Order: sequence, then structure tokens, then C-alpha cells
Amino acid sequence: VLEIRDLHKSYGALEVLKGVSLTARRGDVVSLIGSSGSGKSTLLRCANLLEDSQQGDIIFEDEPVTWRGQGPHRQPADRAQVIRIRTNLSMVFQQFNLWAHMTILQNVMEAPVTVLKEQRDAVETRARELLAKVGIGDKADVFPAQLSGGQQQRAAIARALAMQPRALLFDEPTSALDPELEQEVVRVIKALAEEGRTMMLVTHDMRLAADVSDHVVFLHQGLIEEEGPPDRLFGSPKSERLRQFLSATA
Ligand code: ATP
Ligand code: MG
Repeated sequence: VLEIRDLHKSYGALEVLKGVSLTARRGDVVSLIGSSGSGKSTLLRCANLLEDSQQGDIIFEDEPVTWRGQGPHRQPADRAQVIRIRTNLSMVFQQFNLWAHMTILQNVMEAPVTVLKEQRDAVETRARELLAKVGIGDKADVFPAQLSGGQQQRAAIARALAMQPRALLFDEPTSALDPELEQEVVRVIKALAEEGRTMMLVTHDMRLAADVSDHVVFLHQGLIEEEGPPDRLFGSPKSERLRQFLSATA
């Protein structure tokens, strides 16, 4: 579904990604772990073209992103392609980012109606099904501020699913939540993994990464330091940095 090859990204003089390659095949759950500042969020944002990158390839459904210009000046060349990629790689953020002035149902319906130009009735039916699926079917008509953090994050997941994306990108979806609310969201993410959804997940929750991932990538200072299946990576880490990281987060 998504392949990233030798991606480089700098903010001015700060090189944040120094040549990162990874692949998520259909049905794969790929988790990204690593210390704060290692480039995890930047990688997700580059993947769905929320951020520009300076070198390397992003290939979505066998279709490489086409660029105009080179290096620091390169920009995606094809506007329709950018929209296709963004709508098909739906992102869920740490801070939910629900629209405060819209009800939960309106939040979930907004993008399919305005961006995809889908029929309101069909979108509403789907939106209500998705809210029920994440366990907040009774919250359709309330505003985000009336929900707990865990409910808001489940609404944000329903909103991402409403786009019927090819893959979901999660950036620390549970780290703004109290432990007991975290579990509500973890259950939803596990259910999505079991359905065979393609996902890329940035998380500080090593148990979640171990439970849901097919592949785990440990980023360190903008490079992949070590990667592998979760059993191997967590069970017998080779790199000293990964060992230190895991003992610090245990
Ligand atoms: P965390 O675990 O804290 O979320 P992260 O691995 O997601 O960390 P990134 O957010 O990708 O890290 O940031 C990587 C580096 O890029 C950091 O040094 C950060 O300060 C820098 N950075 C991120 N966004 C910007 C920006 N918009 N402008 C300048 N520098 C940025
Ligand atoms: Mg981050």
C-alpha cells in the first residue's frame, strides 16, 4: 500500500530524517517507536504529504509521488495525486483535533461530504455505523467538549474511517489519555488490526506495539536503528540503543 524509500527531510539546517525506508503491505500493521525527537511524527506527516521532503520516494499503491523541482525546492507536482494520497492515508492525532463547533456526527460526515462529494444520506448511515462500531453510537448529536478524552479519540478514529482510506496513520493516539481511557482506544485499534486494516502506528505503548504489529521500526536520530517482527525486536534487541530505549520505557 505504502512504500517509503530513502526519505530525507530537513527543517532548515536540522536534518530530521536521514534516509528512511519502510513498507506497509496490505493488512500490515507497522509500528514506529523511538525517543522524543527521533522523527516519528515527521515520517508520518511526510508519508501523507502534510510535510514536504527533500529527497527519496513515496510510493502509494504502486504510484510514486511526482515532484516538481529538486532538493529543498521540490514540491508535489500533481494536486489530484496529493488529494488522493491524503484522503487514502487517514491520520489520527494525539490531540484528537475534532472540530469543536460541530457535533460528533457532523465531524465524522464533514470530509466525505465536502472533500469526496459523497451523498449526505449515504455518509450519515456510514457515520452512524462507525460511531456504533467504536462504541459511541449514542454520542452522535453531542459536541466534542461533552465527551471524555477516550470518547473523543474514538470519534476521531470514526472520522478517519469515514473516508474509507486504504491505510490509517496513528500518531500517539493514546498518549493524551488517562490509563483507563487509553484501554478503550487500545481495544478499538486492536479490533482494526484484527480486521486486517493497513496501519502505521507511532506509539510509546510498547505493549500495544507488541500486540498489534507485524513489523516494528525503531527510529533513532532520523535513521532506522533496528527493525523486525515484534517478538524478535522486543525479545532479543540487537542494538544497544534499542536495549536502552526499551529498558527506559519498561
Ligand atoms: P515525539 O516522540 O516527541 O513526538 P517525534 O519522534 O515525533 O517526537 P518529530 O516531531 O518528528 O519527533 O520531530 C523530529 C525533530 O524535528 C525534532 O528535533 C523537532 O524539534 C523537529 N521539528 C519537528 N517539527 C518541526 C517544525 N515544524 N519546524 C522545525 N523543527 C521541527
Ligand atoms: Mg511525535
